[in-house]
Amino acid sequence: MENYQPTADLLKDRIIMVTGAGDGIGRAAAKAYAAHGATVILLGRTIKKLEKVYDEIDAAGHPEPLILPLDIEGAGAADYDQVVERIEEDFGRLDGLLHNASRLGDRTPLEYYNPEEWERVMRTNVTGAFLLSQAMTPLLRAAPDASVIFTSSSVGRKGRANWGAYAISKFATEGLMETLADELDDARTAVRVNSLNPGATRTYMRHLAYPAEDPASNPEPDAIMGAYLYLMGPDSKGVTGQQFDAQIKR
Ligand code: NDP
Repeated sequence: MENYQPTADLLKDRIIMVTGAGDGIGRAAAKAYAAHGATVILLGRTIKKLEKVYDEIDAAGHPEPLILPLDIEGAGAADYDQVVERIEEDFGRLDGLLHNASRLGDRTPLEYYNPEEWERVMRTNVTGAFLLSQAMTPLLRAAPDASVIFTSSSVGRKGRANWGAYAISKFATEGLMETLADELDDARTAVRVNSLNPGATRTYMRHLAYPAEDPASNPEPDAIMGAYLYLMGPDSKGVTGQQFDAQIKR
């Protein structure tokens, strides 16, 4: 998928939500989706960053995005109701959902892991993704060819020391993906659900996790968009319940 060649209008007329769209991989995905014709819903917590992404998409002449401010960690049922209402009113359906926002948390052995930090990581990475998926399911069902992508990590597929709640939240993300994929894999709906591990990518989170690493040793988010486009667009029709990697392991 690293070498996937999408057509220019791959996502034409599709409505796609990206969480954590203000920075890193989410920002790159939002811009890539817009560049391929999608109207992107930029969901995130830092409005200034979302506005910057909005301006970049607008300046490039791509479809006008929508900014939806939401702190996933603190959001409750009423917040999700508002998000649903807004999308229902503006679009009436959702063709794609990229769960990208995540909290890294502490890099500490479980023996010493702060239980409050554990809650915050789980709330952001797992409960938030569950609540948003639940709220969006009727809108996804209303689309003719919808795709949901959960963002995983290599530590969500094989546990690793000192990755704490983050690693465990990514295992839960894989479980959420498989369960939802199986539930939506019926004749009534065309919603496919998969997980994607971006692999080491040059972002703020990567820097937090590996402060001593030379950032130049990892690709920029823009360079790993092939898999993000493939899974979001019609070329992955019928593919569901599977784990993907955005970068070939070298
Ligand atoms: P960044 O830290 O660069 O970006 C994360 C984005 O998520 C930010 O825009 C951030 O908002 C947003 N976010 C965090 N918490 C919340 C919240 N409570 N509510 C709303 N938005 C929130 O991370 P990456 O781009 O590196 O990571 C993107 C995804 O890829 C994550 O799921 C991560 O786990 C995964 N990943 C990344 C890897 C890498 O090497 N970079 C490797 C493996 C997986 P704000 O800007 O306000 O902080």
